[in-house]
Amino acid sequence: MTSPIPVLTIDGPSGAGKGTVSRMVASRLGWHYLDSGALYRAVGVAASWANLDLSDSAALVRCAFDTTVTFREQAGAEMRVIVNGVDATDELRLETTGAVASAIAAIPEVRSALKERQRAFRVAPGLVADGRDMGTVIFPDAPYKVFLTASAEERAERRYKQLKDKGVSVTIDGLLREILARDARDAQRTVAPLRPAEDAVLIDTTGLAIDAVVQRVLALVPTPVA
Ligand code: C5P
Repeated sequence: MTSPIPVLTIDGPSGAGKGTVSRMVASRLGWHYLDSGALYRAVGVAASWANLDLSDSAALVRCAFDTTVTFREQAGAEMRVIVNGVDATDELRLETTGAVASAIAAIPEVRSALKERQRAFRVAPGLVADGRDMGTVIFPDAPYKVFLTASAEERAERRYKQLKDKGVSVTIDGLLREILARDARDAQRTVAPLRPAEDAVLIDTTGLAIDAVVQRVLALVPTPVA
């Protein structure tokens, strides 16, 4: 009997360090990486390009089905995300895109439209899946599940540093407000609300260096015997 392709799910609120930790862990394990937030952001960007009304659920669901998203890996550089044939990597990272993505992600049919696309990333030798519902909805049978958290203040501060490095002008207070609003929306939505899977290992990253978090996550995955 062949065993299923292993998946390590890393869920948690925005700014908990999921992206950086997931990428580092995937690279250390030699596994594929799914940035599920980028899929929701891509649909958000495509919806903005098409001037869709955020209250028009039917149009947004069609948009979720129709939008093509390609992840282009580049050695030693940031992964590029191509939306409908256009490199949208920079637009994808904007706070405004995150807010649109979070609104769109609350529509149940949008979530189902993206379900199989996410599952298709489960390819040998393994997958690290980063998101909000990876361990609860998309890969409930994943053998390894992590839920990362950090205080809202620390998450706002990390985001501030990231954006400042990119030359984007924002205030910590503004970011904190956005993070709290997004957390509330993600946690309160009726479909796939943000919550840890029952079998997830909780890691609070407040005050922890990235390397320490990566070590803790890697410790959950047994190293294959050569
Ligand atoms: O992780 P990221 O900040 O890129 O995600 C953007 C938004 O997409 C989140 O605020 C959340 O509303 C939504 N999302 C989701 N489920 C996922 C990943 C992201 O609802 N698995």
